[in-house]
Amino acid sequence: MIEISHVNKWYTPSFQVLTDCTTNVTKGEVVVVCGPSGSGKSTLIKCVNALEPFQSGDISVDGTKVNDPKTNLPKLRSRVGMVFQHFELFPHLKIIDNLCLAQQKVLGRSSDKAVTKGMMLLDRVGLKEQAQKFPAQLSGGQQQRVAIARALAMDPIVMLFDEPTSALDPEMVSEVLDVMVDLAHEGMTMMVVTHEMGFARKVANRVIFMDRGEIVEDAAKDDFFGQPRSDRAQKFLSKIL
Ligand code: ADP
Ligand code: MG
Repeated sequence: MIEISHVNKWYTPSFQVLTDCTTNVTKGEVVVVCGPSGSGKSTLIKCVNALEPFQSGDISVDGTKVNDPKTNLPKLRSRVGMVFQHFELFPHLKIIDNLCLAQQKVLGRSSDKAVTKGMMLLDRVGLKEQAQKFPAQLSGGQQQRVAIARALAMDPIVMLFDEPTSALDPEMVSEVLDVMVDLAHEGMTMMVVTHEMGFARKVANRVIFMDRGEIVEDAAKDDFFGQPRSDRAQKFLSKIL
């Protein structure tokens, strides 16, 4: 579903942020990406839906090359759900309208269809009662669940998460992770940057460890937690577990 092949990226000529990154995410797989701050996790995940360009290598999503100038990027991005650390809901729109906007504008759904789908997804993340409120009236955890529902409203073929719980108060982390665990169990293909190793243990198929722009380790979950091969991954795990 996602093929990342020998990707190199420089932010400036003297600063290479990604070095020869290669990995694949197959349909229905959940891959957790972890590693120290500044190791390139966000950059890599942004390259997947072409929010960041890269100078060499290839990335395809469901067979479509994101770095091909002929690719219709808006169309591709509409099928790749993305959830960031900061919820980035539209503050001036009610929750239900946050869920309907792109369904109508990008997918051309009727207002009725968009609202029906939006309400179904709000119900699924436990927020049906909040539909008529504005984002600022919701807690951080609730806003992040809305952000996930909004991404799902576009019927994504994959979901990318970039530290979706790291800006939340601790007591709100699990309500967001629970939604993500459900999603994983339903077979969604997911690439998740997170340091929530409980989540990784529960649902990840594979764990990727990045350091200084390189994929240092790419292992089945049990192998990763059992005995990471690299010193760098071992050190990292010993700090966060
Ligand atoms: P992570 O998500 O693992 O913390 P990032 O991908 O955000 O890492 O960043 C990797 C490195 O690239 C960091 O050193 C960061 O400062 C740098 N960086 C990130 N975004 C930019 C940018 N737009 N321009 C220049 N440098 C950047
Ligand atoms: Mg990051």
